[in-house]
Amino acid sequence: MSRPAPRELTVKDITPLSPNLRRFTFTGESLSDFPVDQASAYVKLVFDSAEEGQRPMMRSMTVVDSNIQAKELVLDIALHNQDSPEKLGPAGQWVGQAKPGDSIKVAGPGDTKLVDFSADWFFMAGDLTALPAIRANLHKMPTDAKGYVVLEVPEAEDKAALQIEPGKSPEGIEIHWVVNPEPGTHHDQLKQKALSLPWLSGTPYIWAAGELKSVLELRNHLNQTMPAPRPPRYISSYWQKGLDDTRHKQEKKRQLAE
Ligand SMILES: Cc1cc2nc3c(=O)[nH]c(=O)nc-3n(C[C@H](O)[C@H](O)[C@H](O)COP(=O)(O)OP(=O)(O)OC[C@H]3O[C@@H](n4cnc5c(N)ncnc54)[C@H](O)[C@@H]3O)c2cc1C
Repeated sequence: MSRPAPRELTVKDITPLSPNLRRFTFTGESLSDFPVDQASAYVKLVFDSAEEGQRPMMRSMTVVDSNIQAKELVLDIALHNQDSPEKLGPAGQWVGQAKPGDSIKVAGPGDTKLVDFSADWFFMAGDLTALPAIRANLHKMPTDAKGYVVLEVPEAEDKAALQIEPGKSPEGIEIHWVVNPEPGTHHDQLKQKALSLPWLSGTPYIWAAGELKSVLELRNHLNQTMPAPRPPRYISSYWQKGLDDTRHKQEKKRQLAE
């Protein structure tokens, strides 16, 4: 079956949530048939290649909200390397310059990235690229949910980006922060934080996403310490320092699937 064509959307609003995370609200008639309840699913921003005949470049982002009546789609996008234009990929370039009225093609949505809410407890970890999916999970968790969220952010001020709706974060979920001014370095920080937290009783659902090497460190630690059978989990990488998304995906397939 052929995939539906990407939707042509217009930037309606851009709001900084924190120094390094920007909220984009897109609008467009073609959102009228966007599926409902898609928070945590991914869509792909589609960028035409500068070279003729080359396939378009696509970059995944997580749906924060989709309002079909208002024909709006909301994404939170991390800023990176804005001082080094030569290091920017197509999404980074676009995000740094976008303004209301600009248009963009958006494909998807793909699968949601939700935990199994019936687990005994939850361990979720990630960086700014994973924050929108982690927030979507927190919003849907049962009020008596227990566990930990560990979030790595480039600056302490980025903690403001979590923006949980009032009353929506279960009290039993502790939020822990790691500040790493150089994302994609110091790969052991999520792991170290995980090591410092007392593991709860029962079977957790493990959710982790972010920079490949940080996720690998955490995954390897969990593999070594969690008794078999392994608890249910979603462990993925969303980017890799120094590699564009095409090369990152090759590394992810090679290293994370092992
Ligand atoms: C399922 C899924 C959901 C995602 N959801 C989100 C989301 O909601 N918000 C979001 O911001 N990102 C999200 N991402 C991550 C995003 O797709 C990548 O960061 C993507 O590589 C950005 O594309 P680019 O064109 O800017 O850079 P690329 O062309 O892929 O890479 C160019 C350079 O930028 C570096 N780079 C890429 N991303 C980052 C980063 N975050 N920090 C520092 N350096 C970086 C690369 O290492 C490379 O050196 C998601 C990824 C996946 C797979």
